[in-house]
Parts: sequence; structure tokens; C-alpha cells
Amino acid sequence: MSEKKPGVYLCKGCGIADAVDVGALEKVGKNEFRIGHCVVSDALCSAEGVASMQKDVADGAVNRMVVGACSPRVMADKFRFDGVPVVRANLREQVAWSQPAHEEDTEMLAADVIRMAAAQLAKTQQPTPAALGEVSRTILVVGGGVTGLTAALEAAQSGYDALVVEKSDALGGWSTKWTMRAPHAPPYRDLYANDIAQLIAKVQANTRIRILTNATVAQTSGQPGAFDVVISHGGQEANEKVGAIVVATGWRPYDATKLTHLGYGASPDVVTGVEFEAMLARGAAVKPSNGAPVKNIAFVQCAGSRDPNHLPYCSSVCCTASIKQALQVVKADKDAMAYIVYEELRTPGTAEEFYREAQRNGVVF
Ligand code: SF4
Repeated sequence: MSEKKPGVYLCKGCGIADAVDVGALEKVGKNEFRIGHCVVSDALCSAEGVASMQKDVADGAVNRMVVGACSPRVMADKFRFDGVPVVRANLREQVAWSQPAHEEDTEMLAADVIRMAAAQLAKTQQPTPAALGEVSRTILVVGGGVTGLTAALEAAQSGYDALVVEKSDALGGWSTKWTMRAPHAPPYRDLYANDIAQLIAKVQANTRIRILTNATVAQTSGQPGAFDVVISHGGQEANEKVGAIVVATGWRPYDATKLTHLGYGASPDVVTGVEFEAMLARGAAVKPSNGAPVKNIAFVQCAGSRDPNHLPYCSSVCCTASIKQALQVVKADKDAMAYIVYEELRTPGTAEEFYREAQRNGVVF
């Protein structure tokens, strides 16, 4: 490593010289830390002040600095010199602007601020960047459902190549099974027709996106920017280099037979949200026991969630899914009643408005 050549630069501006003896601070640098290059300026951030610091660096007079001036939160762009560690000593906010001028404690505090900065500088090494080697700009997206496809499309639209790996033989995931989707932006009055087919078409048409179905990720290694990934596809394994990985592997419905207290399995008319969604996709909400139209329906939220014996967490999506299904029921049949029984309703962000819309449509919470 090259010889350390520290410098101390002290600013008198912004009231610093009105509150502390800047000359005494210069002596701290020179006498206590043996830093011969100490400079006092009326305004270090001025064009002349910065130019003189740049000149000292260019001339090789200093290669590391203490800047005794204002807070490091400001003027960061002024006191940045290539390859030069800079430690800021906050004489302005921490001393001049917050302590009584020229009192003994104020002078001692200012001297300590310079001492701390000089001690820090003595122990500071300029970090050397980690050598990554070749960096890949391809983003691997694991999972070809709505989340993965959205990620791939947005990556492509941002100028990156994307590789979608989907374990099944088709894109779309669970979303292909829904008929309607909940709005995630205003207006909240309307449910939206499921537009997953359009998303799939956009992804398939994008030349930046490669899609592998019936494929899985067998192994990953490496680091951000340079991951080595082994992809299993068609009975063979292939290596890919990717810079980032988006894990969008989806979800599995909870096994409702474990929730015996709710009657699942004991009555055919107790169904899960996924089963009810399939029923809606077939055309109408009917009672599985006799095929009669559903006139009264209760959605039981938080079924097993926050229960260490079942699901210790809350999915944060089933509330919105149930509100959507309840709205589908009451909008299809004005005589139908829908009740949502919950422990705590989670409609994050603007989904709160969706909840209100359900109330306006007669859904009872
Ligand atoms: S802004 Fe900072 S560097 Fe500029 S005069 Fe004030 S204390 Fe000195």
C-alpha cells in the first residue's frame, strides 16, 4: 500500500469560527496526530476551497483527509475525491450550532470531534471492490405464475433478459383457474375479468424472455451478479449463468382435513376457497350436497392461521380472495346473503376500499 499522507482541512464558515478557536483545532492535528498538512479555509465548500483540496490530491500532498466542517449529511458531493478516504468531523451542527460559543466545554468538544475523526482516518483503509468477474444481466424467474410472469415482463421492459423456469407444462399457475380477479387499484366497484391470458401472450411475444416449461432448478451456486444455475429440462441438465434470481414459486392450499372443527369432510357443503373458486369457474355457486343454488354462505377466515398447530402465519391474501368471492355471490343473486367471519380482516393498503365496496353490496362482516 502507498504511504499514508493525511491532511486536515478546517472550515471557518457557517459560524464555526464564531464559536470555536479554529487555530487551536489546527494544533490538534499538527501536534497530537503529527499531520503536517493542515489547512484552514473561510469556506471549504466554495469553488476555491474544493479546488485547493483537489490540487493537494493531484500534487500528491495528501491521499486521505479529515474535513472539519459541516455534517457528513451535506456537501458529500463536494468532498469526494477518487481513491481518497475522507472522514468528516462535524464542527458545524455538532458544535458551533448546538453549543455556547467559545465556552471551555465547547472548545474541548470541538477538539474531541477533530481527535475522533483523525483517529478514525488513521484506521481507515480504502475498500477494494470485490472482483466479480463476468456479470450476467439475465434474470432467472423461478415460477411461471402471474407473479413470475409479471417479474419477467418488467425485467424485459427494463432492458434485462429473463429466463422463466416453470415446473408444469403451462404458464399462468393458479391464476388460470380464476374467473374474476379483485381490483388492486381504483375503481373498486368492479371485479375484473381474469386477464392472465393477455399476460401470458405478452410474455411469450417478448424476445427478451426465454421460457422453459416442464423444467426445474436443480442447483444454484455463486453470488449476486454471477449465479451458476443448473436447470433440469426434458431429462437433461443445462448450466445457465444469471445475475439475479426471482423466486415466484407460488403457494399450496392448506390441507383442510386438518381443520376438523370446521366440518370439512363431515359435510359436503363445507368447501375450501380453492374449491369454491373452481365452482364459480364452472358457472355458479351451488351446494355440493344437492346442487341447489347457494342462498346463504359463510366464509370462515383465519382458518388455522396464527395457530402453532396449523399455520403460524397469516397469508394476507385470503381476506381479499373471500371478499371477491362473496361479491361474486351477491352480485350474481340479489337474494343471496354472504357473511365473512374473521378474527382480523387484512385488506392491506388501498384494498380497504374493496372491503368497503363489499359492505356497500350487502356482504356482512
Ligand atoms: S457548508 Fe460546510 S463547508 Fe461550506 S462553509 Fe459551511 S461548514 Fe464550511
